[in-house]
Amino acid sequence: MERRIYLDNAATTPLDQEVLEKMLPYYTQAFGNADSLHSFGRNAMSGVDYARDTVAEILGAKPKEIYFTSGGTESDNWAVLGAAAVLKHTEKTHILLSSVEHDAVYMPAMKLKRQGFDVELLPVNAGGMVEENALKERIKPTTGLVCVMTANNETGVVQPVQSLSKIARENGALFFTDAVQGAPYLDIDVGKSGVDMLSLSAHKFYGPKGVGVLYVKSGTKIDKLISGGQQQKGMRSGTVNTPGIVGLCEALKKAQSEKEVNNGKILAVKQAFEKTLLEKVDGVTVNGAGEMLPSVFNITLSGVDNAAFLRDMDLQGIALSAGSACESSSLSPSRTLLAMGLSETQAKSSVRLSFGKHNTVEESVFAAKTAAEIVAKLRQI
Ligand code: PLP
Repeated sequence: MERRIYLDNAATTPLDQEVLEKMLPYYTQAFGNADSLHSFGRNAMSGVDYARDTVAEILGAKPKEIYFTSGGTESDNWAVLGAAAVLKHTEKTHILLSSVEHDAVYMPAMKLKRQGFDVELLPVNAGGMVEENALKERIKPTTGLVCVMTANNETGVVQPVQSLSKIARENGALFFTDAVQGAPYLDIDVGKSGVDMLSLSAHKFYGPKGVGVLYVKSGTKIDKLISGGQQQKGMRSGTVNTPGIVGLCEALKKAQSEKEVNNGKILAVKQAFEKTLLEKVDGVTVNGAGEMLPSVFNITLSGVDNAAFLRDMDLQGIALSAGSACESSSLSPSRTLLAMGLSETQAKSSVRLSFGKHNTVEESVFAAKTAAEIVAKLRQI
């Protein structure tokens, strides 16, 4: 079988074997409905309670501030729409979000705009970062919610969440951060960052797909997104995904405790790719500047159509993407790169590699050499 190299860890990561083993008993033995009052239910609930306590501890939060959801998209939708449902009845109907938010934040915000909310995008600088002044200039007495992600999924640019959330707080606005990409690499303590809401998704840090977290600081007024039974204090109805929640907890624990080691290792893999590629190929620009995740590497390959490049890399067994996995089927130019000032042509020549803890320097050098050959071939056509 041909060699296959996975360089799309920002799209998703493989489930960690140890995490899977912690999950399995919750499918077959402690399978009860965690909200049932009998012993089967209590067994399941003890796993959920442990997960809630552990996630809260990692975030520097209280267990009652942690809600489990079906993933990053639900958490993001809930934060935006849930806050807006309360703000609707106040003067504070101005919503600010960065122009590089994931669609899971951007789309619900656009829905609110259609419903009459005053929704405004915060620009980013050429490096992809929201500057403090961009927020200071736009925030106003009617601003009810500010959304700026912890780290961008396409460029890996880390946002100054702590200082931005301070500005929001001083102006009486809620601050939500989508930490889906940042969680495996950064300190996600909500006490330090001062955020009111934060979202996580387990499959980005070697946990299972279809499970996430929304942290909601006590006292923050948000409406529920999903109605039904009284699970999770009636704020997020639906039988809880016990194995998924246990898996999320174990994966987050592991990712956070191993983060220094993994960050160093992943950065070395990324740097090996960058060095090899830049030695062999001209006309490459790296997108994003300032503090960056060690894992994500976004480049523009001038004169190269990204769809053709991705196809040819895939034919060589190397998986990467044009940007967000959710947008990759459309291959329209990336909203994030356009917001950073790239032209449509440049955006359509851009690709994202995202390295993970299982990648090696040898793999990354091999991938860079293959990429160089493909770029040379495509530029000839
Ligand atoms: N937010 C960001 C920054 C993401 O990268 C993603 C997934 O790509 C999501 C939200 C959505 O998460 P999920 O796939 O768990 O719905």
